[in-house]
Order: sequence, then C-alpha cells, then structure tokens
Amino acid sequence: MSEILIKNGIVFDPLNGINGETLDIAVKNGKIVDLSQINPSTALVIDAKGKVVMPGGIDIHSHIAGAKVNIGRLMRPEDHYLTNKPHKLPIRRAETGLTVPNVFRIGYDYARMGYTLVVEPATPPIKTRHTHEELDDIPIIDKAAFLLVDSNWLALDLITMGSRELLASYLAWLLSTTKTYSLKLVDPGSDITWVLTGRGIDIDDQIPAYNITPRDIIREMGYAAQLLDLPHKLHIHCNRLGYPGNYLTTIKTMDITKDIPRLSDTPVLHVTHVQFTGYKGDCWSTLESGGEDIAKTLRANPHVTLDLGQVILGRPSTTMTADAPFEYVLYHLTRWKWVNADTEVESAAGIVPYAYKKRSYVNTIQWVIGLEIALLTSDPWRVIPTTDHPNAGPFKDYPVMFSWLISRRAREELMKEVNQRALRKAVLPALETEFTLYDLAIMTRAAPAKLLGLGKFKGHLGIGADADIAIYDLNPKEVDPSREYEKFVKSFKRAWLVIKGGEIVVKEGEIVKTVYGKTYYAEPEIPVELKKELEAFLAKKFKEYYSITKDSFIIREHELRNPVKIPLETRIKG
Ligand SMILES: [Zn+2]
Repeated sequence: MSEILIKNGIVFDPLNGINGETLDIAVKNGKIVDLSQINPSTALVIDAKGKVVMPGGIDIHSHIAGAKVNIGRLMRPEDHYLTNKPHKLPIRRAETGLTVPNVFRIGYDYARMGYTLVVEPATPPIKTRHTHEELDDIPIIDKAAFLLVDSNWLALDLITMGSRELLASYLAWLLSTTKTYSLKLVDPGSDITWVLTGRGIDIDDQIPAYNITPRDIIREMGYAAQLLDLPHKLHIHCNRLGYPGNYLTTIKTMDITKDIPRLSDTPVLHVTHVQFTGYKGDCWSTLESGGEDIAKTLRANPHVTLDLGQVILGRPSTTMTADAPFEYVLYHLTRWKWVNADTEVESAAGIVPYAYKKRSYVNTIQWVIGLEIALLTSDPWRVIPTTDHPNAGPFKDYPVMFSWLISRRAREELMKEVNQRALRKAVLPALETEFTLYDLAIMTRAAPAKLLGLGKFKGHLGIGADADIAIYDLNPKEVDPSREYEKFVKSFKRAWLVIKGGEIVVKEGEIVKTVYGKTYYAEPEIPVELKKELEAFLAKKFKEYYSITKDSFIIREHELRNPVKIPLETRIKG
C-alpha cells in the first residue's frame, strides 16, 4: 500500500480538538501515521490547500441491506428504470435506484459524499444471513448491523420470568451467532400484539399473552445492554411512531433511562429517527411539532442521544420498518402499494412508498420537527443528522439536510415554498441557530464514532486512526457556508477526494477504485456456568416456537467478507 501525504488541508477533527487549522496528514498501510513515518520524496503528495479535510463520515442509521430492503427494490421498479448508470469495469459496477438503490450505488454514493462507515439498523435474527450477503456486496464502506429483539418471543419469556442474567446470555448468544453489533428495539412489544390483535400498543399497555408492557422491555433490554457492555447500548424506535400525540411516548421513553442502572460511561439509550415520534396534536389536521418538548427532555437526560430522521421535502421515499402496525396504517392513508410480513417468532415488517410534498401541512410539520430538535438542543455530540434512509428521504440528500442546519438562509429559502399554515404553528422560522463546519464534523464523524464505541480508530484523524478521509473543495476562508449554502451543498455532494483504508477511492466526485470495507460485530462472553442453562433454554424454546433448528441461525466468520470481531468482557454473573 502506498504512502500518501495530504498537504495544507483545512482540517476539522473534533475528537482531536482541531477546528479549521491548516495541517499535513500522513497515511501509511491504511492508517494515519506521524509525518516522520513516511518518505516525502516517494509518497503520493496531495495538495489540499484551500480545501476542507475531515475524517470519513459515519451514518449510524440507514436501511441498506436485508430482507425488507430487497422487497422494497422489487416493489418499486419505477425507482430504478430512470436512474441507471452503466458499469465502468474494472473501476465500478452498474448503479441503479434512488430511494432503494442497488448494493453498488449504496457504497458508491456514500463514498462520493465522503462517508466510509454505515450501520444497517434493523435485521431480524432469522434473516441476518441475507443481511450479511448484501452487506458483503456493498463496496467501499465499512458496515455493522443492529439486531431486532423487540418482539422476540424468547426474550419476552425471559423478561416475564425476570431472568436478567439468562436474558443477557441469550442476547449475547444472538449477537455473536448472527455477527451483529448491537440491539435494536422497534415499537417494543407491538409486533407480537399486531400479530395477535391487529393493532399496536403504547408504552404502558399490556402485551397480550405476556404479563409485561413495552416499558418493561425497554428497561430490561437496557439493563441487559449494560451487563453486556455493548459499545452502542440500545437503539430504540419508540412506540406509537407515526401517530399524532406520540411525542409524550417519546418523552416517557427517554425518561426510562432513570430506571436503568448505568454500569458504563456510554449513553444508555439512543432514540432513533425522533422526527417520526415527535408529533403533538390529536389528529392529522391538528398536528403540531413536539420539537421544543423533546429538546427540553433531551437536555434533562444526559444519557440519551438521538438521530433525526429528517424529512426531505420534495423527494419520494420508500418507507420500510419493522413497525408493521404503522405500515398497515400508512397504507390506508396512501392506498398504492403495500407489503407487510411477519417474521416467525421474532419480528414483523412493512413497506409503503411515500412522497413528502412541500405544500402538505403534515409533511411541512414533519420537516419542521427534525430541524427544531437539532437547533433547539444545539448539542452536536448528542443529535445526529439522518434521514432514516429511505424512510424520510434518500441518504443522497444529506448535504441538503446539512445546509438547513448550517444556514438560516437555506431554511428561509425553502420556507417560502412550504405550507404556510404549518409554518405559522412552528418556532423554526424564529430560530437563528446555525451550526458550524466544526459542529458538522462532530455530528457526522466524531459523535457517531463515539456512540458506536469505535472512537479509538474511527471518526478522527489522529495517529493510529484508520485512514478514512474526505476532502471537500470548499474554502471556508473564502466561502461562508451559511451565506453561500449552494456551494457548500455542491462540494459535500461530491467530495473532491476520498481515501478509504489508505486507498484513494473517489476523485472529483467520481469513483476511481472499488475496495471492500469491514463488517464489525460484537462477541460478548457468556460465563461457563450460564452456558449450560442457556443451551437447555434454547433447546426447549426452539422446539416449542420455531419451524427451524437453532443451527440454521449460526453464521460463521468465513461467511462474511471482512469480519472484525469486537470481543466484550461482560458483567453477567454465572
Ligand atoms: Zn430506521
């Protein structure tokens, strides 16, 4: 691997406290090294004078692989036939799709924007072999997947029994067996309720056939994540997603952190795509933003983090979620295409195409909520900009979303076109907050790296970090991104140069080389004394619930293209 010397870049590297200083960066063997470690006369020299240099971007929540993503592709041929980009072998494969791109476009488009690590946030255990097959085929970026455990019958049994240590052991077994990274709760307890009764439930409602509530699931899973010391503790899509009035459920969910004993420093809960659960009002016609209340609750709960699920107005989307009850409701609002599925004893899912319209009252309120939460909280370390791709908009539009965060002018321009009745009910028009490029580097690099527990070697440009680097053709000394936001969007849509693992993969917004990244997974240890008890439990429950044996779940390391195991010492007692 060649040596690279990036000279005179304007560097934004928050984990190392570097805010726009002009610096040189040396790369050797896929890592960032001290300048003395490379030979400047033979290294490839890149003149980054007048350009922004940041670590590779990290997306903590984007639906990029697995069964429901693939069904989304199948049900939307219209998403593909006008968006083809023929292959250019041996440099890159053919690309297609906007809201649900093919595997190649996912990797290439993320790389074009300077993103180098993306997390698939929802894979049912039984379907995870498929998820890995697709993750393996996505070029360039590193990946990880979160495992769906919100309506898993075995987990619900253990919570009902009050078997905390056995629950943690079962989750440890599931994570290492499926080669996944952390735990995901989607509308806890609702999928099983929907299967049995045809409706979802709120946080304190009783789950049919179990003597527990969603609140119990969140608390006990949160505690299990502490026992396992997962690098990213618990990722949660709150109950009642998509329903007016649900901001109260989100606030109650955030407050559950007070009932979860904290055994490590990392945040206890990460509430995902909070926009979809930030609705005030009794019905769609009285819908209002719950942004102010959520921002206030976040400030009072230091152990909670969020990502936005920011709506991109004027774009089509394909909504897809394990929240089957909500997709059922959404289909009855849109009446076009719809898929719902039940996943044995683990989960469910639904897919419904949708379009966010600028003139729509409801869609404008949705657009307002994400931005209000980010701007009112004003804490780039705890609020991560995402679109919950493809639910609130395609990830390709991230630079447009960033422009609303860094430029009041960009927001005002769009506000001229949106539903004015909705805007009159919002505080957004009065907000003057504008994030800086340094804040943006926190929100898209440093903070997600820390929230994933990968901050040692991801999300920064210090010595020893992985050489994942994005360079943008934007000179902040000459261009004020707040005033000239179009120039900012253009440069962040197509990075000037991207280095992944020490290799140049993008030049002037185009792919120049295809490499394959790593897949991170957690392997929490299970105490020997509990292994026997777990084996007996699994044998009994698989026989009782599943149509397959537990051996079908086991994904071996050699099945993944570039697996990286994160071994975890746990606090489970035998
Ligand atoms: Zn999602």
